[in-house]
Amino acid sequence: MDHLTDLKPPVAGKIKIEFKDVRKVYRIKKEHGGCGDFVVLDNINLNVYDGEFLTLVGPSGCGKSTILDLLAGLIPNSGGAILIDGRVIEGPAMDRGFVMQAYALFPWLNVRANVEFGLSIKKIPKKERRAISGHYLEMVGLTSFANRYPHELSGGMKQRVAIARALAFDPQVLLMDEPFAALDAQTRETLQDELLGLWEKTQKTVVFVTHAIDEAVYLADRIAVMAAGPGRITDVVNIKLSRPRQGSRGSAEFGWLRHKIGQYLKSGKEIQEDQPRAVITDVAEVIDAQAAL
Ligand code: ADP
Ligand code: MG
Repeated sequence: MDHLTDLKPPVAGKIKIEFKDVRKVYRIKKEHGGCGDFVVLDNINLNVYDGEFLTLVGPSGCGKSTILDLLAGLIPNSGGAILIDGRVIEGPAMDRGFVMQAYALFPWLNVRANVEFGLSIKKIPKKERRAISGHYLEMVGLTSFANRYPHELSGGMKQRVAIARALAFDPQVLLMDEPFAALDAQTRETLQDELLGLWEKTQKTVVFVTHAIDEAVYLADRIAVMAAGPGRITDVVNIKLSRPRQGSRGSAEFGWLRHKIGQYLKSGKEIQEDQPRAVITDVAEVIDAQAAL
């Protein structure tokens, strides 16, 4: 079944996102005193193509969230360059929507107001805001929940609201950091299918982080496989499973792909033991970046 994967870049397609020799280093306190550099990401080179669904998979701590945070412009890179449409990114902007693992909804706003949040910042008039939030709430099947508050929703519903909110201001790129990790298996599979449906409809470029191999395979056009110590991309694999993929989870092809990606993950795993352990001493940088939002 080797025809189901290969390592070639896509032949056609405009490059949307470029990581060029990207490096992220944190200054940390060492266990026995003094300071040292902790290399979170090293030598990250990756192109993401316009309209592509790319998943990033790797073990916990390998730097997946850091890659997304860099791409979102929440934290600065220490070396190299990250470009969107050929321009170096400078902080967060409305061309990128972010869906996080934790349900990052505003608890004091109802569902509709949460979805309209970015639109209010963009100063879009109320009537238009209503129409847009109505459209996306319908897309994620939450029209009748528009007046509810986050604490009145299930986990799956909260993530649907977060997705509607990210889509509402029509970003070109959707960044998703383990958005379904906290959900039960059934809800998770339902939301994966819904997400693929939305992606096909909206043609967004999606960068989706997960540590679950089956999720990475099910969703992706390509999978960037990461390893830790320092965090790096070891392989970028094309997933040639036909779409739509509903019903393919039990297939022999799917099982084989899962196995294959598992092998890629294992082969990239030689951890360098001399890496200092990260001790977070200064999160001011992150907090500053978030405040700038
Ligand atoms: P993943 O999302 O793959 O689980 P992260 O990107 O969250 O990994 O983290 C990668 C590594 O970077 C971890 O070892 C983590 O401890 C370290 N790290 C993240 N943020 C900081 C920080 N502000 N200071 C020091 N180390 C950090
Ligand atoms: Mg993470």
